[in-house]
This record gives sequence, C-alpha cells and structure tokens, in this order.
Amino acid sequence: MTRLSGACHCGSVRFELDHVPGSLTECNCSICRRYGALWAYYDRKTARINCSPGAVTSYSWGDRQLEFYFCNRCGCVTHYESVEKEPESRIAVNTRMLAAADVAGIEVKHFDGAVTWKYQDKPA
Ligand SMILES: [Zn+2]
Repeated sequence: MTRLSGACHCGSVRFELDHVPGSLTECNCSICRRYGALWAYYDRKTARINCSPGAVTSYSWGDRQLEFYFCNRCGCVTHYESVEKEPESRIAVNTRMLAAADVAGIEVKHFDGAVTWKYQDKPA
C-alpha cells in the first residue's frame, strides 16, 4: 500500500513508500552535506524506485560500498543503496523529493557522518 510518493524535479524518477518515516536524517559527511539530502531509510520491500534504466546515474566514492543515484535529466539526488543489492538491505530515500507537507513535522535527526559516525541528538 503506497502511503507516500515522490519524484525528482523533472519526474523521470519516481518512488513509492509504504509508510511515513518515523524520523528523517540529516548527515554532515562530505557527500550528504553537498547534496543537502534529508534521508529516510526503508526496507527494500517497502520502497520502490520507478524509472527507466537509463534515467539515473550512480556515484560511488571512498570504499565504494554505497551508490548514490541522481537523475540524468534534472540532477536531483533521489536515493542511495548498498552496492550489493541484498534483499534485506536498506535503501535511503531523499525525502527532499517528497511534498514538503508530507514530511512536515517529522523529527529530523542529525548524524555526524563526518567524524564520530553517531547521532548527535540528545535522547528525547
Ligand atoms: Zn529528474
């Protein structure tokens, strides 16, 4: 059951999410802060990326364990996932592709991907 849907700016890449995320993650690592992404994590079964095979390009860096995907037409960063696409592995969706109203009010957690690799937020 699709609860949320999103798309890149030009609409070439669309995704469907089965549930509203419990929290969003802003990360300060070298790639996430450049992208300005706001991530939500999903099991592969509960998030579907829909686009033609040639619509996206992936970018990997460092140890090349992750692939960041962006639209070839409008350049929006839509999601990232592990290089090995195991059925149980998660996918991170850039919730900036959703309508602002759909994610308004969801808690934003701050992940220190730059240094400590931990969330910086104090427990509620
Ligand atoms: Zn696009």
